[in-house]
Amino acid sequence: MSATTLINPADESVIRQVEQTTVEETDVAIARAVAAQVGWARRSPADRAAALRRFAATIDMHIEQLAALEVLNSGHPIGQARWEAGHVRDVLTYYSAAPERLIGQQIPVAGGLDVTFLEPLGVVGVIVPWNFPMTIASWGFAPALAAGNAVLLKPAEWTPLTAMRIGELAVEAGLPDGLFQVLPGKGSVVGNRFVTHPAVRKVVFTGSTAVGKQVMAGCAQQVKRVTLELGGKSANIVFADADLEKAAATAPSAVFENAGQDCCARSRILVERSAVDRFMELLETAVKGVKVGTPGDEATEMGPLISREHWQKVASYVPDDAAVAFRGSAPDGPGFWFPPTVLLPTSRSDRTLREEIFGPVVSVVPFEDEADAIGLANATDFGLSGSIFTRDVGRAIRVSRAVDSGNLSVNSHSSVRYSTPFGGFKQSGLGRELGPDAASAFTETKNVFISTD
Ligand code: NAD
Repeated sequence: MSATTLINPADESVIRQVEQTTVEETDVAIARAVAAQVGWARRSPADRAAALRRFAATIDMHIEQLAALEVLNSGHPIGQARWEAGHVRDVLTYYSAAPERLIGQQIPVAGGLDVTFLEPLGVVGVIVPWNFPMTIASWGFAPALAAGNAVLLKPAEWTPLTAMRIGELAVEAGLPDGLFQVLPGKGSVVGNRFVTHPAVRKVVFTGSTAVGKQVMAGCAQQVKRVTLELGGKSANIVFADADLEKAAATAPSAVFENAGQDCCARSRILVERSAVDRFMELLETAVKGVKVGTPGDEATEMGPLISREHWQKVASYVPDDAAVAFRGSAPDGPGFWFPPTVLLPTSRSDRTLREEIFGPVVSVVPFEDEADAIGLANATDFGLSGSIFTRDVGRAIRVSRAVDSGNLSVNSHSSVRYSTPFGGFKQSGLGRELGPDAASAFTETKNVFISTD
C-alpha cells in the first residue's frame, strides 16, 4: 500500500499522509455497496428522504470544520470554503425531496394499464477533480443516493480531506453501512476500477477532457452509463453599449475566483473594439484591487494555486515575452502564488485563447460586431459557460441562443445553482448535473403493461 503526502498550497508545509486505496480494496468496497444498495432501494421513499435530510443536517453542523479542511488542503479563501460546505448541505436538502417525487408515467394504451417506473441503477462511481472537492462530489452523490443507488466517491489525489470527512459524516448521520463510501487513491487504480468493474453501473466523471475521453471509451466496453463534466474556455462578451463599469468590476471574479482553477472561468474577455480603451482602464483598477493572500483571512478573495506542478503549467502561459497588459499582486515567500494576469494577445490563434490554463490568467480580444463576437466565442472545442454584457435585450437573447455553451449569464456571471441544470456543449461534457432532473439521470426507465383482460 502506498500513501500520498498532502501539501498545504499556501505555505508548502506537509499536512499529512493519506493511504491510497488498492484495486483489491476497491473491489471489497464495490461488493459492500452492492449489498447496501439492495436494502436502501427497498426502504420507503419517505424514509430515504428523511435519511438524506439527516445527512444534510449533519453537514450543517460541520460547516466550519469542512471549510477549515478546505482552506488547509486546497488553499481556498475561508469565505468561499464556507459557501462550498453550505452548498453541499443545500444540494443534499434539494435532492432529499427527490425520492418522493421520482414519479413515472401512466400511458394510455389499449387492453390494459401501462406504467413506467424509474428504477435505481445500482452502484454509481463518482470521480472528482481537485478544484472544488466538496461541491462537485455532492452534485454526483446527492441525486444518485436520492434515486436509490449506492455511491462510491473517489476524490482527487491532492485534495481528499473534505470528501473523507463527508464520508464519515454520512455514517454519523445514520446512512446504512456501505451505502456511501469514499475511496481516496489514484485515478488509474480506483477510478479505472469504477470503469472496468461490471457492478458499477454508472460513472460520473468530472475532470480533464483527456481523461474524460478515456473514461468514456472504457465505459463503452460495458455500455456503462457515463456523465462527463470536462474543461472549458469560456467567453465573457462585452458590447460597447453595456454598463462598462459593471462589466469591468465583475470580470476579475468571473475568471480569478478559486485562482482561476474553475471549469467555468471566463478566461477570454471579448470586448467590442470601440469600448476596449475604456474597458481596459476600468479593468486595470479592478484587477489591482483583487485581494490575494492567506486563505484563512476573512478578507482574502484569491488564494494560491493547488500545487507546484500546476503552478509550473500555469506559468508556462506567461513567458518573459508574454503580451502582459497588467497584473495584480501576490504574496512573496513559500506557497504556490500566482498574481492575477491580464494578457492582450496579438493573434487570435494564440494558445492562451485556445487552451484551458486553469489559473489566474485572462486574455482580452477586441471584436468588430455581433457576428464577430459570436464567431470568436464559438472558436473553441469547449462550450461550458460564458457571459454577455449589453443593454440591448434583443441582442442579449440573440447572442445567448447563438453561443454554443451549456450555461450563459446576461449582465452577470452567475455561478452554479443547485436548482438549475449544469453541463457542457461540445468537448466540455456529456449529460447534465443538478437541476430538477438530475435524480432521474441515476435511474433506468422500466415500462410495465398490465393486461385488464
Ligand atoms: P484530471 O482529469 O486529471 O483528474 C480528475 C479525476 O480523475 C481525479 O480524481 C483523477 O484521479 C481521476 N483520474 C485520472 N486518471 C483516471 C483514469 N484513467 N480513470 C479514471 N479516473 C482517473 O483532472 P484535474 O486536473 O483533477 O481537474 C481539472 C480539470 O477538471 C479541468 O480540465 C477542469 O476544467 C475540469 N473540471 C470540469 C468541471 C465541470 O463541471 N465541467 C468542474 C471542475 C473541473
